[in-house]
Amino acid sequence: MATWPPHRGRPRYDFGPNTETRMATTITDLDTYLDANHDRRLESYKALLRFPSISALPEHAPDCRRCAEHIAGELRAIGVEHVEVSETGGHPVVYGDWLHADGAPTVLVYAHYDVQPVDPVDLWDSPPFDPAVHDGRILARGAADDKSHVHMHLRATEALLATRGRLPVNLRFLFEGEEESSSENLDRWLENNRERLKADVVVISDTGFFEGNIPAITLGLRGLMYAQIDVTGSPVDLHSGGFGGAVENPANALARIIAELKDRNGRILIPGFYDDVAELSPKEREAFAELPFDEDAYRDGLALPALAGEEGFTVLERKGARPTLDVNGIWGGFQGEGTKTIIPAHAHAKVSCRLVPNQDPDTIFELFRARVEEVAPPGVRTTVQKLGGGKPSLTPMDHPATKAAARALEATFGRAPVYIREGGSIPVCASFESILGLPVVLFGFVNPDCNAHAPNESMVLDNVELGIRAIARLWDELPGAGIGG
Ligand SMILES: [Zn+2]
Repeated sequence: MATWPPHRGRPRYDFGPNTETRMATTITDLDTYLDANHDRRLESYKALLRFPSISALPEHAPDCRRCAEHIAGELRAIGVEHVEVSETGGHPVVYGDWLHADGAPTVLVYAHYDVQPVDPVDLWDSPPFDPAVHDGRILARGAADDKSHVHMHLRATEALLATRGRLPVNLRFLFEGEEESSSENLDRWLENNRERLKADVVVISDTGFFEGNIPAITLGLRGLMYAQIDVTGSPVDLHSGGFGGAVENPANALARIIAELKDRNGRILIPGFYDDVAELSPKEREAFAELPFDEDAYRDGLALPALAGEEGFTVLERKGARPTLDVNGIWGGFQGEGTKTIIPAHAHAKVSCRLVPNQDPDTIFELFRARVEEVAPPGVRTTVQKLGGGKPSLTPMDHPATKAAARALEATFGRAPVYIREGGSIPVCASFESILGLPVVLFGFVNPDCNAHAPNESMVLDNVELGIRAIARLWDELPGAGIGG
């Protein structure tokens, strides 16, 4: 059972002497309701986690749709109106609104219900779509990224409507089903639904806390460029005795191409790649340096012999404010047991770049393709295709909604949040800014050791329980925050 306020009794969040708990009078009316419904709430979280809504795998398309229908049903049940499972051309979007807070701001709430694939499944302690609770955590694919936030928003809205009969702000919900596969259809859906997405601010819940589970507000997100390189030689595998030495080997060629994309000091070798990178100001570098971060503990936590990255930058700068290039998958040739003496007919790699302000994914793809073509050996055919992308984004720290989010976090978790730049990408973030012209606040509660995208993804249940309260508090804070309405 969750206790409220969290610092009564044994505190889970002990941040030292300055943990004065600021009880917000406006939320105490929810406590009774939330305490009474704790078990049912956990069951509803588990039900959401049981849908294998893996957006990248076509065989899971029906699961994505079932998950969307389930969320739509939940929205209707708690009193949200105009609920619709809306077609995008890919996996559907779930929309719903509650617009009866006259004169109050309107918030567009975003989270995503799709999840990453679960391979390698044998590294999981329990089946990824059979949620298990251990040591104050819930373990399942999507437990953190990003069904935790779908769940928290549903339950915060439910608690407010059940106890007060109304919400302090107008809410429009948008739950996406393609975030983990580059949000391919969302921009068009946003363009086609501009009218019903009118709002004063977007609250995106798909981020997390800082190392040590310290409340954080993410100000910047990296963008993404995702590509595939295909190298082909002769139409069939060739005998390496009969032909070796006389023909180019596609697997060797691919390895050479990849080696020409980044040097040993972590510097990307694509001409023009860094041209649009917004360099860190001395003040930003200072802010990075002030964040509590233990490099050795970070390395040990990853079970790595050493960390790597671009020379001249700290680990936090490399993760948050510098672009990257990584091979995400590589295959070709003989992969079975034992030996087979061939020159493979073809070899392939999936390669992606995390991008920072002001890099553009289309421009970076063109530069990437030009570099691959420049270094590809002549004895093979090499093609490059773009698989996805998203723009980077940066939110102003002094926006009134950002400040309101900071107050809600401090009041709930007993500590002012730190401001961070996140290494991940939420392509839709830039879309909200550019297509809808709305400011974006990133309001997320995931513990940093959640293993998102990896085996044994898990979410700290206290973060979920307090997150629900912090969301309710943010809605209470916004009408007086000066952001329109
Ligand atoms: Zn996510």
